Amino acid sequence: MIPFLDLKAINNQYAAELKSAVLRVIDSGWYIHGAEVTNFEQKFAAYCGTKHCIGVANGLDALILVLRAWKELGLLKEGDEVIVPANTYIASILAITENRLKPVLVEPENSTFNINPEDIIRAITKKTRVILAVHLYGKLADMHKIMIIAKEHNLLVLEDSAQAHGAEVEGRKAGGLGHASGFSFYPGKNLGALGDAGAVTTNDDELAQTIRALSNYGSHRKYENLYQGLNSRLDEIQAAFLNVKLSHLDVEIARRREIAIAYANGIKNLEISLPISAGLSEADISNHVFHLFVVRTKNRLGLQQHLSDAGIQTVIHYPIPPHKQKAYCLFSHMVMPITEAIHDEVLSLPISPTLTNEDVEKVIETINSFTG
Ligand SMILES: *Cc1c(COP(=O)(O)O)cnc(C)c1O
Repeated sequence: MIPFLDLKAINNQYAAELKSAVLRVIDSGWYIHGAEVTNFEQKFAAYCGTKHCIGVANGLDALILVLRAWKELGLLKEGDEVIVPANTYIASILAITENRLKPVLVEPENSTFNINPEDIIRAITKKTRVILAVHLYGKLADMHKIMIIAKEHNLLVLEDSAQAHGAEVEGRKAGGLGHASGFSFYPGKNLGALGDAGAVTTNDDELAQTIRALSNYGSHRKYENLYQGLNSRLDEIQAAFLNVKLSHLDVEIARRREIAIAYANGIKNLEISLPISAGLSEADISNHVFHLFVVRTKNRLGLQQHLSDAGIQTVIHYPIPPHKQKAYCLFSHMVMPITEAIHDEVLSLPISPTLTNEDVEKVIETINSFTG
């Protein structure tokens, strides 16, 4: 059996280090906002190339807190519009509506799965204040164009980097490309804790301070409260795990890219379209960290069954687009042909960095033998 993502095998590689991290926290007698969190925040800010990193409880909170802080700072108000890709994972949109802001859904490009910059321009109104750029499946959105559009229209840019730790363009990484970024360290993400965890990165001092206070009851100083905040903190124990995992992240990304290149070069089935073309090198795909390797086919169920019969597990990211979810029935009238086709056709192949070359070969051969 080739699992889609083998979390146990991934974490087993570092079992000794993870166990000593737990002991370190137990022995320290300090469980919230201590040395492990500070150490991780410094290391992750350095990794992303940003001035600040603020650890929070999860990725959704990271996004919620950035928008909330911009509201507290007077840059946003209820009812303002936030442009967001229609095919994102629903958490991006939850962060907007949680703040009583209005999501404006925009179609992605077929070739990248990421938001189409031309469609961003068409969606801008007098109420637009933010572009929420999602680096979906681990591939950077076109941040160069997005930042030019934002500058022209005086908009804030929030990156949703939950799937893209370490993806880079011209030497700059996800998390340091917009005005602020939300990260998730959910166990299945490329940089995964052993429980829930998240972070915000930014170069903006005032925003960083505001988020620190908001995530800690709105308190900037003990027992003094500037805001009606929430409790969204990164645990010491998760930070201790993340300090271990961060030191191995680049090796894992390199292995993911190796697997992606093998898939791109090996899969020859014309019924299936691939997220990257054959013949690329690791340097050519530095803007993609392959959180997911997503192929498209008109006969998705058939392909999934064929792979499953061969003992290969696949997953669909995602089966229902946000505007077709019951939670967002206010969008149910919307017609989003590119987004809807993506949700009907995508299938994610196994991409554990722990896959062996034989596993990868077996996935390729099984796909090439699929006749539809
Ligand atoms: C996982 C994810 C989130 C939410 O992160 P959690 O830590 O699960 O709250 C947000 N956006 C995207 C694109 C994600 O993949």
